[in-house]
Amino acid sequence: MLKAVRGTRDLLPPDTDLWNRVEAKVRDVMERYNFHEIRTPIFEDTQLFSRSVGEETDIVSKEMFTWEDRSRAIPAVPVLEVASGTRGRFSGQSLTLRPENTAGVVRAYIEHRLGDKGTLQKLYYIGPQFRRERPQKGRYRQFYQIGAEIIGPPSAGSESPIHDAEILEMLATLLDEVGLRDWQLQLNSVGGADDRARYNQALREALKPLLHQMCADCQRRAETNPLRVLDCKVPKDQPIIEKLPKVSEYLGEASREHFAAVGAMLDTVGIPYTINERMVRGLDYYTRTTFEFTHGGLGAQSAVLGGGRYDGLSESLEGPKAPGIGFAIGEDRLILALQSQGETIVEKLRAYIAPLGSGMNPHALKLARELRREGVSVDIGDEVFRLKRSFELAEKAGARFIVIVGENEVAAGQFAVKNLATAEQVQVQRAELAAYLKDSNPQPRKS
Ligand code: ATP
Ligand code: MG
Repeated sequence: MLKAVRGTRDLLPPDTDLWNRVEAKVRDVMERYNFHEIRTPIFEDTQLFSRSVGEETDIVSKEMFTWEDRSRAIPAVPVLEVASGTRGRFSGQSLTLRPENTAGVVRAYIEHRLGDKGTLQKLYYIGPQFRRERPQKGRYRQFYQIGAEIIGPPSAGSESPIHDAEILEMLATLLDEVGLRDWQLQLNSVGGADDRARYNQALREALKPLLHQMCADCQRRAETNPLRVLDCKVPKDQPIIEKLPKVSEYLGEASREHFAAVGAMLDTVGIPYTINERMVRGLDYYTRTTFEFTHGGLGAQSAVLGGGRYDGLSESLEGPKAPGIGFAIGEDRLILALQSQGETIVEKLRAYIAPLGSGMNPHALKLARELRREGVSVDIGDEVFRLKRSFELAEKAGARFIVIVGENEVAAGQFAVKNLATAEQVQVQRAELAAYLKDSNPQPRKS
């Protein structure tokens, strides 16, 4: 039997109802904060990720799904050349399924010259990402991210700490409104490019005498990208890492002020946070503010989302100066966290229509059509079912009401409506039925 590939999974109802409720809330919040949706391709040129996320990161060095494109080379002009033999060769371009979406958004920002508008671009996305990781709870090879970016020319205020605070405040609101309880915000600053260079140098020095005790990855990273040593998950390396110099000691005046301003704004609006100096995040493009929101219901994979500033990213992709800040929520983990609190969609269906007796299907369908067009969620049975069977199916479908459509009811223009939770039964006029069903707590009426 063929099965879904390891690390991928099918999302089925009723879970998808919860996914959709979360996504609807995201769109609602994004609109209130003036973010607009961007959809970028699911695969990109491999270099986009190696140059932005960074060669030394786990994502680029181990986790990407990469292949060589085998479509026919598209000749970059001379037709003559085609005739003389280019035709039939493969382009050999290296392509990669996106492991994250910030790089794609920034590529699109550059490609479409969105900076020329002179305003901040506030963009959000919802979609699948791909990483070849060891599958476990909260870690999949195809997973979903909900992300947003604020990016623009410095003249539009893109470097201002108010946008760091705005993003963090929006996330707090979003998590509150989807109903996640007890999240924690961990905050850090990894400094600007200058600070990072000084800190990397300090780490390199500090690591020199210790390296022989550390894992092979760390020994390599200490040379190529010392900051990545702080990401190391190998247990025996942890006591060594604990004692390494702290990034805060290497922040310059400007970065320190920027970070203090973000913290002060969070204090003013009343958003609690913890400063965690070890949190450098697994992508190279971050500068200054970095953050994670964690949740206790997730076990080892406790990060619901991560993000930060990336003031130099556009330039490293040969774009204009375009500082920015963004985040990506792991939607799979957000759903797991909500489910760990017992979150489910309670009511699935408002009314189940039971045609009673032969020839009643058309009447049932007509009534269903009227109600559905009035905005009531309705499902229908079949005239071959006996009443008992209809009740069973209505219960199974999670309906709140069952509406009986028999010959007498149609002739009289009123229907028997039974509340399946309270077992209360009333007669309701056809014209009043939609309103009656929509009213979440209808008053009992005398028939
Ligand atoms: P982690 O430390 O958990 O591996 P990360 O630093 O690799 O996370 P990011 O690249 O910052 O994660 O992605 C942002 C969010 O996306 C994470 O906080 C997490 O919620 C989610 N995420 C990352 N990788 C996966 C995965 N393989 N499966 C499910 N969710 C993921
Ligand atoms: Mg990871």
